[in-house]
Amino acid sequence: MTRPLPKVLLHDHLDGGLRIGTVLELATADLPTRSPKELTDWFDQEGVNSLDRYLDAFSLTVSAMQNTGNLERISYESAVDLAADGVVYAELRFAPSLATEDGLCIEDVLIAIDAGLDRAESETGICTAIIVDAMRQHSDSDDVVMAALRSDVKRVVGFDLAGPEAGFPPTLHRRACELALQGGLGLTIHAGEGDGVASIEAALRCGAQRIGHGVRIIEDCEVVGGAITDLGPVAIQVRDRQIALELCPTSNRHTLGIAIDEHPIDLLYRAGFLVTVSTDNRLMSRTSLTQEFVQLADTFGWVREDFLSVTENALGAAFTTAGIVDSILENQIRRGFAAPN
Ligand SMILES: [Zn+2]
Repeated sequence: MTRPLPKVLLHDHLDGGLRIGTVLELATADLPTRSPKELTDWFDQEGVNSLDRYLDAFSLTVSAMQNTGNLERISYESAVDLAADGVVYAELRFAPSLATEDGLCIEDVLIAIDAGLDRAESETGICTAIIVDAMRQHSDSDDVVMAALRSDVKRVVGFDLAGPEAGFPPTLHRRACELALQGGLGLTIHAGEGDGVASIEAALRCGAQRIGHGVRIIEDCEVVGGAITDLGPVAIQVRDRQIALELCPTSNRHTLGIAIDEHPIDLLYRAGFLVTVSTDNRLMSRTSLTQEFVQLADTFGWVREDFLSVTENALGAAFTTAGIVDSILENQIRRGFAAPN
């Protein structure tokens, strides 16, 4: 077996990456089936094209995340699974307010996730960080940020807005974004997935340093003969400021119907955008970062240098400290890519 290349993952939802056995064991919501194989197929969004099914899938996983023991275990298992895939640095994200149905507070949730990641780090050596999400359709984003800052969990490095994009612009949460930045957190915002260029522009206005997905920035680009030939004003801003795009090709196929050979990731990469590759929801997309890389190699002919480039892009855009970034770059990424496999 070849050794996996060392990888960096910026966009992976904790509630979208549970093991199927863990869902079977811990979910309190009614399961559509008790068969691991059938449940795996039920979660898989390939060819489903149903937002309801997608949301049902998350209500199942979230039902397993309502006490600290389960949160610790799920975080631990996620990081162990990522480490097995060759991921050396991961930022895992979750909206802690989703885990408060049975009485936990946001600080409890973050401390439990932190404990699980800590255990995985000491066993596997993976380095992990937490991005705290607020849901755009809820009005508690200020409270979420303040609780995250109050929790003093050192692994919390960033803040994100998730949930339905159209109809809930990030500007509704401008105060939360300001609080996060003032508190020293990195700011990434889901934008340019369920809504278009204006949504990306609004995220930038709120101070976003990275864009979750951002795939629809291609709508602000002119493409002629298989290459980007001109950029609109938002695309210019994203490229020239080197705002990292957290692109998740398989997830986009499931939620937006973009086939991999139609995905603009290669166009954006070749036009000098700061492209990074992520998984989004490994359970629902039945994917891994290795699998994302394999399909990019198969579809666009990406080679080792391209994967090194997007990996360095991701690490450079990480919200952790410069010391950790430098150490991972030297000791794991450059060494791992230089070694024969
Ligand atoms: Zn996402």
